[in-house]
Amino acid sequence: MNYRNRMEEIMSGKHRLSEEDRLKMDYLPDDIPPLPKGEDALKPSTKAGWETEAIIRAMISNLHNGRDWEKLYIYGGSGKVARDWKSFNETVELLKTLEPNETLFLQSGVPYGKMQTTRWAPRCVITNSVIVPHWTPYFEEFVASGLSVYGQMTAGSFIFIGLQGIIQGTYETIAASIKAAEKKQIYQEFSNFEKKLVVSAGLGLMSGAQPLAIKMCEKIGIIAEVNPHLIDRMYNTGRDQGAPYLDYKTESIEEAIKIAQESAEKGEVVSIGVLCNAIDLLQYLVEEEITPLVLTDQTSAHDLLNGYYPMGISYDEADIMRVESPEEYLERSKKTVVKHVSLMVELNKRGAETFDYGNNIRQQAYELGVEDAFDYSGFVLEYVRPLFCEGKGPFRWMALSNDPEDIKITDKYAKKLFYDDTQLVNWLELADKYIPFEKGLPARVFWAGFVGRAAFGMLMNKLVSEGILKAPVVIGRDHLDGGSVASPNRETEGMKDGSDAIGDYPIINLLGNALSGATWVSYHGGGGVGVGYSLHAGQVILADGTRLSQEKLFRVLTWDPLSAVLRHAAAGYEKAIDVGNEHKLVIPGRNEIREFDYEKLYDHIVTLVKDRTGVELFPPMENLELSLK
Ligand code: NAD
Repeated sequence: MNYRNRMEEIMSGKHRLSEEDRLKMDYLPDDIPPLPKGEDALKPSTKAGWETEAIIRAMISNLHNGRDWEKLYIYGGSGKVARDWKSFNETVELLKTLEPNETLFLQSGVPYGKMQTTRWAPRCVITNSVIVPHWTPYFEEFVASGLSVYGQMTAGSFIFIGLQGIIQGTYETIAASIKAAEKKQIYQEFSNFEKKLVVSAGLGLMSGAQPLAIKMCEKIGIIAEVNPHLIDRMYNTGRDQGAPYLDYKTESIEEAIKIAQESAEKGEVVSIGVLCNAIDLLQYLVEEEITPLVLTDQTSAHDLLNGYYPMGISYDEADIMRVESPEEYLERSKKTVVKHVSLMVELNKRGAETFDYGNNIRQQAYELGVEDAFDYSGFVLEYVRPLFCEGKGPFRWMALSNDPEDIKITDKYAKKLFYDDTQLVNWLELADKYIPFEKGLPARVFWAGFVGRAAFGMLMNKLVSEGILKAPVVIGRDHLDGGSVASPNRETEGMKDGSDAIGDYPIINLLGNALSGATWVSYHGGGGVGVGYSLHAGQVILADGTRLSQEKLFRVLTWDPLSAVLRHAAAGYEKAIDVGNEHKLVIPGRNEIREFDYEKLYDHIVTLVKDRTGVELFPPMENLELSLK
């Protein structure tokens, strides 16, 4: 037996498993695993206490918020929480009995081993979809043969909080794109209707945030989606609370335009879901000479076989073709993506503020011959990079009590701590008004940076210790982040020094978080844009109300945003260097500071929290060893 031959057989598709075998459906539970509620939710049931309980609840919460729990699909096309049901169940069992000084290692959604580490070490180390670069084109074959899994980001790192996680980023991004559009010369030539129109496609797990975010920005949204069930889902979401994501749904593009025009005349803010392929909507706009103010796309174009839908066939026909004739499906998808991006390029030329929303659609079209695919840029380059230089980025937390009241309390304290950040406070108010809590653990997200993240994390920990929050919270983030990601078509597009594809940075971020006390850490390939196009690291940290937790929170939540400042300083961004100098951070080669005063920063945070919220944090621990008891 030549072992190299075995891999070649796998790459040629000889060892593909059936979907049933790949998911190990024999181990599928009768119903979705429940999340504890009420009194039951206020105590951990695992040997190591909240640290491991948090991981189990976060995994289950992902299933509740996800797209298809039986198949373990969470979001972003085929992004999964575990490789298969056997692995999901085993992971939970192993976590239940893990000692407080042990670590469980997961390899692409499968338990791989555990060992004694320390109380400071993460309880769980996760890797997903990491392939030696040369063999990346065969990723799907490795998955099909049961050797790897696509974890996206928060699917495979257990911190997916449903639509609200993305609504805030979408809201910030669309608001920034509207501002940019309104500054353009051509804006003056737009009709009243065009000035209000935002067009996109995709109403899936992440993309479904678009209609609501557009309304929050006081504009009219038309979103194309091929899946009628998802249009219904978004039409019904929030309706009982008087804030539906989609106000209208229709199967006719003409009708969608008519509703939008009438609403624009009446000065109303509405969102319309139209059942069609994205390219049909864009073709119509081009032919009718309607140029939207803002244009983007959030179909799962990063995956032309399992996420993207080809033109000319219905949703149901496409699903059958994908299984029965994947080659034909892929061919059709390729033709569609070429046309799709060409239409976006055309509308961009006509003046629509067009941006790529991180689904790798330009790259797909470029590789298929659309030379001007990169004529419009990605949203990070346009709107987010300056924030990354400050270490700012989306920051999320989930209440393990499973009680939305806990999130409302954290909102209240966040408004006090960040009272001078108008955008953040506005966001929290809009979130309260528009964003229903989902089926998983109640959660919240906002953008915070260096100092702010640590201060808020440490504050929440103290709220747990004082019983103001009923149970601990976990704090994490996604891959829209300045320090933990290498993703040349998204987070690191167009870096000043050309370092877009350098993969060292996410590993440095990962190790820093693991060494600083994160509760679980993860390393992934492909989040957001598909395997081969990005590498990124994640961290989630528990705030359980203990002094040890405060120490860990201080370190992790300063290191995580600090790594964004360092990353951008290394690439030569003046703003990052200024931020570094302002906080007296050591930036070798960029400033002369050689000693970072941690104690001063700790004291500063303690004072800031006390002055703004009245909450007294624990003083720093002098003997950290004591905390191990
Ligand atoms: P999803 O698969 O849940 O949803 C995508 C939706 O697009 C599906 O409902 C699908 O039916 C629809 N669709 C596919 N092809 C279509 C077509 N040609 N015309 C009309 N509708 C079509 O995925 P998601 O989680 O919503 O993510 C969408 C994309 O956005 C992914 O590529 C993801 O990686 C990327 N993403 C970006 C960000 C960001 O911050 N910018 C965040 C998350 C995900």
